[in-house]
Amino acid sequence: MLVFRQLFDPVSSTYTYLLGDAAAGEALLIDPVFEHERRDVALLRELGLRLVATLDTHVHADHVTGAWRLQRACGSLIMLSEQGGASNADRLLHHGDRVHFGRRHVEVRATPGHTNGCLTYVLDDQAMAFTGDSLLIRGCGRTDFQQGSAEQLFRSVREQILSLPAHCLLYPGHDYRGLTVTSVAEERQFNPRLGGDVNVADFIGYMNHLGLPHPKLMDIAVPANLRCGRPDDEAARSDEPDWAPLTCTFSGVWEIQPTALGERMAGARSGPLAAEIQIVDVREPPEFSDALGHIAGARLMPLSELAARAAELDAQRPVVTVCRSGARSAQATVLLRKAGLQRVANLAGGMLRWRAESLPVVDGLD
Ligand code: FE
Repeated sequence: MLVFRQLFDPVSSTYTYLLGDAAAGEALLIDPVFEHERRDVALLRELGLRLVATLDTHVHADHVTGAWRLQRACGSLIMLSEQGGASNADRLLHHGDRVHFGRRHVEVRATPGHTNGCLTYVLDDQAMAFTGDSLLIRGCGRTDFQQGSAEQLFRSVREQILSLPAHCLLYPGHDYRGLTVTSVAEERQFNPRLGGDVNVADFIGYMNHLGLPHPKLMDIAVPANLRCGRPDDEAARSDEPDWAPLTCTFSGVWEIQPTALGERMAGARSGPLAAEIQIVDVREPPEFSDALGHIAGARLMPLSELAARAAELDAQRPVVTVCRSGARSAQATVLLRKAGLQRVANLAGGMLRWRAESLPVVDGLD
């Protein structure tokens, strides 16, 4: 029996797909996301499936692949297109290759155009295809960076995807409206860019006038994906911190959620952890007492002064950095680690999230 799951990353609107052969107990993951390694491993475990490989449809610009983390956790092989130019892959895929899981397989089709290394994975019976960003539901990926080409994408979609059987279900790499699946028949008829009577000149004209902004995470995600999601500071990640429930973001920043910090502080006031966590607020002095207020016991050390003043902190105790939105304080964790502090985490979402979750503040306005 085929096992199929569609998983979602709400931050980047990325879909990850699990394909498994239940009888053989083997599975593939297509386009896993770095931050969801724990989720994916848990699902595989509960379904009784061994992950044999992770397949990326391309070198993504909007999220970091979970391939490397899953390889470490499950022993899975990292696979993606040879054209992508990534390091750390176990197998570089080419048009026409097959990737097996149990008695089933997916066929690899080269569908360049969004990037030069885009692949579409077609299930052995052509009931499903995983198109990455080559074809989205009533849309397609942009073609204006990463060696993209509108002309090439038009050809790829028409010749490799819309040529599949009409009933073949198409699963995209993303959807920003929450739509989950489409079919060859639907996209042939209704895709406004690539379906109907649209020709290559119409498509190129359309794609040249999208006016899209630069992808927000491109400068972080592309270099990380060119390493198949292997962090550049591997040592720092290998020892998971145990002083609080932390999560590591794709950019390598350890974060604590507001409620987790709030709970620890509430517990600390009555217990031996009393002065355990040092809260460092890195905003400017006027912000410290503005309407958002600050966290009780927080120490004001503006980001601009932090490197020079890091020695004022107790290196034996953990530090949580705080700012308005969590952006400056993420940078602060980097500065503090450089200054030699080991146990440092960022308050996710900063004072805005802290307030939104109704946690207590000093000096703030209601
Ligand atoms: Fe993409």
